[in-house]
Amino acid sequence: MQLTNRSKLVVNKELSWSEKLYLPAIFSGMMITIKHLFRKKATIQYPEQKREFSKVYRGKHILKRDEQGRENCTACGLCAVSCPAEAITMVSAERKKGEEHLYREEKYASSYEINMLRCIFCGLCEEACPKDAIYLTEELMPANYDRSNFIYGKDKLVQPLGTSAHPKTYKPYKK
Ligand code: SF4
Ligand code: SF4
Repeated sequence: MQLTNRSKLVVNKELSWSEKLYLPAIFSGMMITIKHLFRKKATIQYPEQKREFSKVYRGKHILKRDEQGRENCTACGLCAVSCPAEAITMVSAERKKGEEHLYREEKYASSYEINMLRCIFCGLCEEACPKDAIYLTEELMPANYDRSNFIYGKDKLVQPLGTSAHPKTYKPYKK
């Protein structure tokens, strides 16, 4: 009795003379290979070639500075609270006298870290920020072999001085 209607009866029939030669099968296999040589490639030569991203693509974060070069972030923690992946941690500090040129608000983040292995690039931190401080840019997250290198601190997140202030036109800092 058959347990399913998808079962197939296997017939162990003798190979014909032409099938025993294997040449037709090899030829038809070669034809399939040759046909694929002239097809449009599905892959590209990254990083020389890059695909155009969607307009709403969200990549690596940037902690923005204002037009005077001061850090916008006031360490209010709203981004961390809104993050569904609990990827953001920070330590706040009071701005001291003489540091007005470094930090825009009286409070700032002395440490700010994003665990990029947790981040799902949803953009909720950007939405939650009341200080125009965090944005997701079009920059790709580079691959790495070490998990600890995916903890991005202020050294990798704060907008380098002298670069474009607009997050979508932000270009990575080249050393
Ligand atoms: S993009 Fe989303 S997951 Fe990533 S840090 Fe921001 S809120 Fe968290
Ligand atoms: S990035 Fe924005 S929301 Fe997050 S701590 Fe700084 S000011 Fe607050």
